[in-house]
Amino acid sequence: MLKKTNALEYPISSKPEFGIPMEVSEGIFLLKMPIPYTLDHINLWLLRDGNGWTIVDSGFYSDEAAQLWQTVLSGFCQNEPIHKIVITHFHPDHVGMAQWLANKTQAPIHMSQIEYLTTHMACQSYSDNQKAARRHYFSSFGLNDEQLNSLQDRIGGYVTGVPEAPISYTRLLDGDSLLIDNDSWDLLLFSGHSPGHICLFNKNRKLLISGDQILPSISPNISVVFNETDANPLADYLASLSVLKQLDKDTRVLPSHGRVFVGIEQRSETLIQGHLSSLDQLRRFCQMPRTGLEVIEEMFGNRLSIFNLSLATGEAMAHLNYLLYTGELSRSDDAVYHYKTN
Ligand SMILES: [Zn+2]
Repeated sequence: MLKKTNALEYPISSKPEFGIPMEVSEGIFLLKMPIPYTLDHINLWLLRDGNGWTIVDSGFYSDEAAQLWQTVLSGFCQNEPIHKIVITHFHPDHVGMAQWLANKTQAPIHMSQIEYLTTHMACQSYSDNQKAARRHYFSSFGLNDEQLNSLQDRIGGYVTGVPEAPISYTRLLDGDSLLIDNDSWDLLLFSGHSPGHICLFNKNRKLLISGDQILPSISPNISVVFNETDANPLADYLASLSVLKQLDKDTRVLPSHGRVFVGIEQRSETLIQGHLSSLDQLRRFCQMPRTGLEVIEEMFGNRLSIFNLSLATGEAMAHLNYLLYTGELSRSDDAVYHYKTN
């Protein structure tokens, strides 16, 4: 018999279909929507809210997703009022259709202030100086000209999924709560994966709408970005996991990707251990001076697509910055940085 360690429980046995809401707890429905990544779907949530509905997250804009939403609003939701649109964070698969939905339903968009502002920032086109700073971020990490040129071509992709940023919003604050169907949901604000990601926790019903902050089968991307190269998002992310780990053990987690699961303590611990072992790997690997690209290849191999290379750059830098902050690593100031364990 296979011995399962740290196994999570998956209480919902049926598989959702794209565009067809599936109940995962009384009055709470998972709406699976397509997104154009290797990870092909996002889970959005429809919550019964009095005579209408509250929607959590909106999807990556596409004509196909718009069609599916139309059908859900008029069919499943029977054109009942949408009271709120809650957005966990600014990534395009979450915020992409928020304003489109708001235009259709007149519902107010609720999000944290920093995610609202970051959405607007991400929708702007870059100036030449911003493009140069972004190129420097990759080149100082050791990426070659061909990689730099391909990465340069990707600029502006965000607005494909987010054709219109939310015009106005209602601010969600850490520690506040939100009433949905007269049921109180605590708002937990975390950074690490994005600057002010909101999770919604219903203490009485032991339900957590977790966004991307914690996922059952993949580790959320934790990245240093080009306009804040001194950041330490991994420290923030690990701090969030130590909070999530302490939620009630029986909490049913409703994640943005993958299956609804129970086992938040084990899952948090597995993610913590994964990052700690990557840090250990880098302490050893940087016994001799290493470039960022060498670190990427050590952590993720050398066969990455250009999209994954950009994520891997941010993630490798997040781990290296963490060790710079603890004083275990030093970085040279050459045109291409070298990292060395102290
Ligand atoms: Zn995300």
